[in-house]
Amino acid sequence: MSVLVQKFGGTSVADKECMERVLVRVQRALEQGHKVVVVLSAMAGETNRLLTMAKEWSDRPDPAEMDVLVSTGEQTSIALFTMLCKDSGVKARSLLGHQAPITTDCAFGKARILTIDHERINTLLEHNDVLVVAGFQGADCNDRITTLGRGGSDTTAVAIAAAVKAKECEIYTDVDGVYTTDPNICSKARKRNFITYDEMLETASMGAKVLQIRSVEFAKKYNVPVHVRSTFSDSPGTLVTKEDKRMEAVMVSGIALDKDQARFTLQGVMDRPGIAAAIYTPLAEAGVVVDMIIQNTSREGVTDMTFTAQRQDLEKTLEILEKVKQEVGATDLHYDTNVCKVSVIGVGMRHHSGVAATAFNALKDENINILLISTSEIKITCLIEEKYTELAVRTLHDTFELDKGPYGG
Ligand code: ASP
Ligand code: MG
Repeated sequence: MSVLVQKFGGTSVADKECMERVLVRVQRALEQGHKVVVVLSAMAGETNRLLTMAKEWSDRPDPAEMDVLVSTGEQTSIALFTMLCKDSGVKARSLLGHQAPITTDCAFGKARILTIDHERINTLLEHNDVLVVAGFQGADCNDRITTLGRGGSDTTAVAIAAAVKAKECEIYTDVDGVYTTDPNICSKARKRNFITYDEMLETASMGAKVLQIRSVEFAKKYNVPVHVRSTFSDSPGTLVTKEDKRMEAVMVSGIALDKDQARFTLQGVMDRPGIAAAIYTPLAEAGVVVDMIIQNTSREGVTDMTFTAQRQDLEKTLEILEKVKQEVGATDLHYDTNVCKVSVIGVGMRHHSGVAATAFNALKDENINILLISTSEIKITCLIEEKYTELAVRTLHDTFELDKGPYGG
């Protein structure tokens, strides 16, 4: 039995006309001899509507009931789509997360999938041609409904594809693939044919919203080929896949940016064991995601500690830093929200040198000052003043000639 998983996002199931378009895609896959697991998001705007509604009812909505509420968006879309399937003679049935069953931990609002019963899904597929599964939801070991975090239907789809060993997981969305950079910022951005799991993880961690980051982690772990493509066109999209020689030959494959950033500096902290732990433990406990961390070399036993975090956590972060300031002996605390992270990404960097120098020179030529630098095996990130974001992205895109096809390949 050849199984294909097809996931459709909110804009792809926004109304009846959209769902009819989805049905055509599903029928095409059936004609090619596949059984199809269709994973659906809530209709466009519905999850936001439900979240707003909860806030109107309660100042602090109960997290478990919140998940019961927001998961209804997907329940509506799978029921309506299964009706359309049946009306056109397709043997289909709907499945809520807990009916699949998809078992998760009990972290309401951001639950992680623990298991999926592939035997039950396979048995149901023997009796049906199409299973229409609600994305974004599961149930914990106490039978409470859980949701997987915003964009979680991607993770449902990839996890099911891994569980049933599907040929591929197709993610249908309103963009036609993954680009070399944000096309809204750089008109020369080019759609990529391939991207490796690691590059996609780095891109998603920079705030790109094409795929939920956890879905990429899942795909990497179970080696599921993920094909990101448009519901609204027939052009091939971008295949997210494991690394091969072709990709290693490419030094730089994309430029990512993240504007949701703030920089924090504690000045004059004591340079002794336990200081970093004293600063970063309360931040971690409060759920603040800290990214670039720079500790200066010390002079006369004191040093400066600088890091970046998401701008949405600004108040929480400042509150914590005010508290630890005394404990670590800091003389000053300052922060800056007019910053942006720009990254040069490519698995080929593992095998080539000089990428960082090329990037720094390109920024220098445009007189763009670099505030902080951090690197990984496949990424060089510079924090710059926010007003230079567009210029930096376009300059780096041009420097690595990403419009002409992969650089160095
Ligand atoms: N409906 C959920 C959301 O809007 C899940 C998803 O669409 O992937 O985040
Ligand atoms: Mg999405």
